[in-house]
Amino acid sequence: MDWEEIGQKISDFGKEVGGKVKDTAEILRLKQKLASEESKLKAAYRAIGELYYQEHEGEIEDAYIVHFEHVGEAKAAIEDYQAQINNLKGVQVCPSCGASVEAGAAYCGKCGHRMN
Ligand SMILES: [Zn+2]
Repeated sequence: MDWEEIGQKISDFGKEVGGKVKDTAEILRLKQKLASEESKLKAAYRAIGELYYQEHEGEIEDAYIVHFEHVGEAKAAIEDYQAQINNLKGVQVCPSCGASVEAGAAYCGKCGHRMN
């Protein structure tokens, strides 16, 4: 191996390393784009699911039964946990506008709905 050959090897190695760094950056960039598209996909699926649920609540098709049940259970649990949190925070939720109203208040401060 003469000096010219060694010089060429070093140069090739440099190009290879440079190429790999570029590839790594490109892979990272593509992975970020991939993740972004995947989350768009998930959001779209979720929106489709929510729409379908709203339009078909009460007329359940076999394939969806278990999922409808899970949605019903989760919604009930969410409502229950939210009520427990509100209770601990000393607030109630206005049934008309959804605003937080101090527990014991006679009217909603936002929309004026009469509270129980
Ligand atoms: Zn209200």
